[in-house]
Amino acid sequence: MSVPTLTLNDGIKIPQLGLGVWKMDDADAPAIIENALDAGYRHIDTAAAYGNEAGVGRGIAQSAVAREDIFVTSKLWNDRQGYDETKRAFDETMGKLGFDYLDLYLIHWPMPTKDKYVETWKALIELRDAGRIRAIGVSNFLPDHLERLIEETGEAPAINQIELHPRFQQAAQREVHEKLGITTECWSPLGQGEALSNPILTEIAARYGKSAAQVTLRWQIQLGCVTIPKSANHERMRENIDVFDFELTEDEMAQIKDIDSAEGRIGPDPATAD
Ligand code: NAD
Repeated sequence: MSVPTLTLNDGIKIPQLGLGVWKMDDADAPAIIENALDAGYRHIDTAAAYGNEAGVGRGIAQSAVAREDIFVTSKLWNDRQGYDETKRAFDETMGKLGFDYLDLYLIHWPMPTKDKYVETWKALIELRDAGRIRAIGVSNFLPDHLERLIEETGEAPAINQIELHPRFQQAAQREVHEKLGITTECWSPLGQGEALSNPILTEIAARYGKSAAQVTLRWQIQLGCVTIPKSANHERMRENIDVFDFELTEDEMAQIKDIDSAEGRIGPDPATAD
């Protein structure tokens, strides 16, 4: 199974579907990563805050797949923001992963009340320019945070990784990303399993002999997003990557739009998260 790539605003290519590893034990990560690589995954999404960068790095080192064929993302945690601190935190991340370069590094949350995300972004730009990171981006940034980064540094993030699933579709935020040339990446793309019993999804799924999870991921692919479903289970992992042999119609895409809900958010609101 080969996953298509999207080209980011800096020319770097990212596999459109990857494996999220939040809440995966560091000790379990190597075997799960090997399984995922065996199933065809070539993109792993971790973070310093997940406590499993070392396990992810071990899994990649042990596998038969070459490091340069795997796209790895990590994220800077909130308490490490600030110009100098970011550089130290990045070195720690690289030490844990055991890599000499990282594919994508994200600022995990904007933390607007701390007001350090612009200097943090400047540190990421320097790390990228020094060749230590291929692409840089952010996560959970609202439109005014993105606009401020661009205004003060002239550099738009390549990616903004945001909560996005059928019950929380983020249409307005996606439109802003499109205008600014930023790729949207979906976190909790399956709504942590919540949306999957929705009858609109199960009916569409039955039509294609697919699962509601597969329809959800396919919808995100057709929206032009990157998506990173999490599973530690071998069967589900294989199911989640098997979404490139069918296509939703415009009508089905419109039906899924109706699942969006004002109460759909699962995670914290980035405007107030601290
Ligand atoms: P998710 O939406 O990917 O859901 C994962 C859960 O859904 C699994 O634990 C399992 O219970 C269920 N599931 C998985 N595959 C399934 C299938 N085929 N059928 C039925 N159920 C299935 O949730 P997530 O882990 O919260 O998000 C995915 C990834 O996004 C994370 O692992 C992490 O990498 C990233 N993330 C980032 C942020 C951020 O702030 N940037 C926040 C949350 C998550």
